[in-house]
Order: sequence, then C-alpha cells, then structure tokens
Amino acid sequence: TPGGSSRSREEKIVVTVRLRPLNKKEQLAKDQVAWVCVDDHTIVSKPQAQERSHHQSSFTFDKVFGPESVTEDVYENGVKNVALSALMGINATIFAYGQTSSGKTYTMRGVTEKAVNDIYNHIINTPERDFTIKISGLEIYNENVRDLLNSDSGRALKLLDDPEKGTVVEKLVEETANNDQHLRHLISICEAQRQVGETALNDTSSRSHQIIRLTIQSTHRENSDCVRSYMASLNFVDLAGSERASQSQADGTRLREGCHINLSLMTLTTVIRKLSVGKRSGHIPYRDSKLTRILQHSLGGNARTAIICTLSPASTHAEQSRNTLYFANRAK
Ligand code: ADP
Ligand code: MG
Repeated sequence: TPGGSSRSREEKIVVTVRLRPLNKKEQLAKDQVAWVCVDDHTIVSKPQAQERSHHQSSFTFDKVFGPESVTEDVYENGVKNVALSALMGINATIFAYGQTSSGKTYTMRGVTEKAVNDIYNHIINTPERDFTIKISGLEIYNENVRDLLNSDSGRALKLLDDPEKGTVVEKLVEETANNDQHLRHLISICEAQRQVGETALNDTSSRSHQIIRLTIQSTHRENSDCVRSYMASLNFVDLAGSERASQSQADGTRLREGCHINLSLMTLTTVIRKLSVGKRSGHIPYRDSKLTRILQHSLGGNARTAIICTLSPASTHAEQSRNTLYFANRAK
C-alpha cells in the first residue's frame, strides 16, 4: 500500500520542534526573531537582510510548537504515546536536541514530570496488574559515565556486555520507586547531582548528556498463561548542546574553531539518520559511543523514539537553529 512502510516508520520516530520565546537578555539586546511557526507543522525563517539565499527557509515536522506553547502541548502531541508504550513492554526514548540555552532541560524536565503523572494514573487504572518501577540516572561527559544517584561514585563507570541484557553500566545504582512521590524525589536527586558537576566543571551541561532511565515491569495478578508480563525501559535524554556536533553540517562546512566534536552526540546523529532511512541503511554504529551503546536497545528495532528539537528564536542564533532543523529533517 502506498506509504505503508513510511507510516510505520513515522510512528517509530516522532520528530517535533519547539521554538522558545525570546528571553530577557535577547530582548534587551534588541535581538530579532528569526523563525515563525506558521501552522502546527511548519516553521519558516524570516528573511534577514544579509542572507536571502540558497538556505532552505521552510521546514515541516510531525508537529511544531511556537513560543506561546506550553510543555503540556509538547507532551500531549509529541511525547505521550511514545512514553506510554513502555507500559506495554516497548522500549522508548525521549530526546531533547538543540544548542545550549535553546530549552532542552526546561522541556525535558516538564515532559518527564508529565510522563510520571501519566504512568501512575495508568497504574491506578490498571488494578489487575502489579507494577514495579525502577530508576537509574547517569551522565556522560567526555565519554565518561557518572552515576547521578550515587554521589560517592567519583570514578567513571564501565560499560559491560551482558549476554542477556546487552550493554550494562557496571555498578550503576538502580532504585525501586515506592510510589510517584518517591520517584519524583529520585529524579530530583539526579537533577541536583548533575548541577553539582556543572559548577565543579564549568558548564558541563552544554557538554554532557543526561539519561534518566525508568524500567517498568508489570505482571498480571492472576497468573495465567494468556496474560503477559511486560518489561521495558523508558529513557529521558537531555543531550549535550548540539553546537558540539556542528561538524556535520548539511553543506559540509568544516569544524568551527573551538567547537569540539562530542563523540556521543555525533554518533547519535549518525545512528538516528540511519534508522530514519530504514532497512537499506546497513550497519548502524551503535558501538561507536557510550551514549549509543547504553541506548542501543531503546533505539531502532521495535523501540519508539520521540525527538524534541529545541530552538532559540533569536537571529543571532539563526545558524545553529538552522543546523538543528537540518538534523530534525534528517531524523524524521
Ligand atoms: P538548554 O538546556 O538547552 O541549555 P534551558 O532549558 O536551560 O536550555 O533553557 C535556557 C533558558 O530559557 C532557561 O532559563 C529556561 O527557563 C528558558 N526557557 C527555555 N525554554 C523555554 C520556554 N519554552 N518558555 C519559557 N522559557 C524557556
Ligand atoms: Mg540544559
């Protein structure tokens, strides 16, 4: 059937774009707005005096969210279905991708909070099943993995290949959440832990990836053969600033000076691009970085993925925003 295979692919990787409002600083600097969402699916660049041109000026996605949108809209229209599939045993990953200060952490915190609400609503409304929710949190900085639930673990954690589970992070703390309050508390520990690193290492958040992983298991109370047990991971990934991946620009321009490549981010963009192309893409280089090794079973295959690309509206950031849109375009 026409479009049949592309439809199923579309459901596996949902790509949305969120344009934040101009912030105070940008307003004070009289920065101009460079992008407008003209409908629910289309974002266009406002022509700037100095550059009309060969650049693509209009981009369409599963959904675009303008500066007036709230995180609830982003969650309901771009994340919810992907996140809740983890309740039915399907691995799922939600990414925030974009340059530093474009709104990744703001958006990711909001959608994580809303997913936690929905998960516990589902648990209440599904009394015939017993659920167990576990959480772990980690940060990848310079290809070193740090445990966000264990403040004593100064050392970088190793990745091991387990014949059954695939890649596992050695000694990573995993806590079982007793209830939704407890889970929120554990998430807030991860966030606080990431900030500790941030002040110590001078803006690590632009260079580090944070993963909060929920493992959701459920079994039917009456143990019968016809009802299945489920187990899946749900990953919330706040990526390093995409300016760290700027090597792979659409026009093939070389690396800007001082802009170091982030191996995990580069590898992730390659993996996602290959997955979005589908079967013909051949070898997928999951093993080339820590981030993609850790997420391997939650990317591709039957797993579902939501990518929220965050954009600054400011014309001073127009080039990075365009790079983000090119990435988003290739991912869809
Ligand atoms: P990033 O994680 O991409 O570096 P942040 O999420 O920290 O960016 O956002 C940068 C600043 O912009 C923060 O002060 C944040 O509160 C604000 N911000 C981001 N997105 C929005 C939004 N959609 N609406 C209002 N403020 C936002
Ligand atoms: Mg951030």
